[in-house]
Parts: sequence; C-alpha cells; structure tokens
Amino acid sequence: MATAQKKRELDFSDFPPGTVNTYTRLVCLACIFDLFTKQLGLAPRTAYSEIKRHAPTAEELTASEPLRPYFDSEERHPRCPYCNAAKRWHARLDTYRIESGKSTDAPRRALVKSLPKAEDQFTMLESRSTKRDIFFAWLDALGRELDFTDDAWLITAARHMLERKEPKTDWAGIFENVRAVRRSQRLSEGWEHEGTRLYLSPPLYADALLIQYLVSRSQAHGGITFEGRLTLVELVRRLRYSGQLEAQGITERDQFDVLEQLIENLTGGATAAKLYFLVDRRDFLDKVKTVYSHYA
Ligand SMILES: [Zn+2]
Repeated sequence: MATAQKKRELDFSDFPPGTVNTYTRLVCLACIFDLFTKQLGLAPRTAYSEIKRHAPTAEELTASEPLRPYFDSEERHPRCPYCNAAKRWHARLDTYRIESGKSTDAPRRALVKSLPKAEDQFTMLESRSTKRDIFFAWLDALGRELDFTDDAWLITAARHMLERKEPKTDWAGIFENVRAVRRSQRLSEGWEHEGTRLYLSPPLYADALLIQYLVSRSQAHGGITFEGRLTLVELVRRLRYSGQLEAQGITERDQFDVLEQLIENLTGGATAAKLYFLVDRRDFLDKVKTVYSHYA
C-alpha cells in the first residue's frame, strides 16, 4: 500500500515555488459510458476502447466552472451532480499547470522523462499565453492562498514576489526569521538581509507594493500594502515621489495609464509564453477498466 501510494506522487521539488499549480477534477464514467452506449449506440467493448483514449482539454480540466461529465467535490463520498452515480463510477484526473521559462524547462523535461510511457498514463498539453496572463493566473492563485485577516500576508506576498523574481535564492530559508520588510536607504538594486529584517532596494520595494496592491484591491477599497491602505492615486503618487516611475521610464500622467505601464513592466506584458499541462491519467485508466468490467 505504502509503495502504491508513493508511486502515485509526483515530485515537483526541482521547480521554483509558484511555477506549478495543481488542479484535481473528477470525471463521471457513468455519464461517459451512458453517452457512448445509450446515445451513440456503441457496444460496451468499443465504448471502452474509445473512453480509454479520451483526452480532456486543458480548459475542461482547469476551468473554474466544470462541465459535464467533469465536476469538483471535497466530499468523501460524492455523487455525480449530473446522473447521481456513486463514487466507484468516478475517476480522478490530476492536472499540473507548469509555466514555461528558463527555470522550469530543465526540471520539466527531466520529470517527463521519468514518467511511465505505457497507455498514455500521463499526457502533456500545451497552450499559448502571454506573460501578463500567466502573471495574473499566478496572482489569482496567490490571492486564494493568503489570509487577509492577518497582516502577516503582506510579508508572505513579498516573499512570493521575490521567489518569482529570483527563483534560485533560498527564500523559504531567508524568510524563516524575517519579521519585517523595509525599503533600503542605501541599496540601489537587490536586497539585503540583516537579523529579522529584509531590506529591499527601491525598485524591488516598489514591485512588492504593486503586487500587494493588486492582490488585495478586491478585498478593500484600494489595496493594502506595507505603506497601509492605498488608493490607486496614492500608490501612483508614492511611486512618483520615490522616483520609481521615472526609473521605469513611465511618463503617463493618468493613474490608470500609469498602472497599465507598471503592470506591463512587472509582467512582460503581451510577450508570448507557453503553459504546459501535465495530466495524470492513472486513476482514470484504472477506473475505466473497473467500470467496463461491470458493463461487460
Ligand atoms: Zn454522472
């Protein structure tokens, strides 16, 4: 049992934090078998070999609102929301969304190489995206993970920002004893760690404020940052006075144009970027076999 469990776990420890997102979705095989045998009139044997080849799209596996025959459930013994089938008819599909990039290409290739090839137990899908969209998907995942009722989230958000910016640094280790993050008065770039304090150069500090603003602006009027609650006007004013707009070559006057430009600079904007979706079909293949044996 222990080895079977172990075999099921994929190891993503070589990937920088924040570059892999996991989605777990259930698919109802009763719904699929019914479609193939009753509506399309296929013999069970034919249905079985068709269903085994079933390759879901990235959208079906990761969309926030799943469609039949897919569904999400946290329950121990869920029922299919479409046909009420019990748990033994459900299969689990785990999807790992991996950002492309210098820091993930090598570990991704190594991981794929290490996976079993038979029966398409794993499939890899690709989709084209932009750096901006990938950033906002990352920000969205971060927002769901943070506890906005506890001010510690501000430091956690800064840590995630740094992990994304400098994936090779051991941020988890550094942040173990960081209690405060401050703007450095003497650094012009980079950061420095002293005791329980982490000092960020003005450009990094500006990025931290922007990310805090963006991740929390839906939580409150304005966003919450190391500098307290800020409206967009106040955020832009602070960045202008601290020289960060000039340093980034931002000359726009309108606050929304400034924000757009800041986001463009932070994320890489419309630059093309790829997303990979690694789909673990092992449970699906096992369950299809069992379910077929009931039909045959
Ligand atoms: Zn169903």
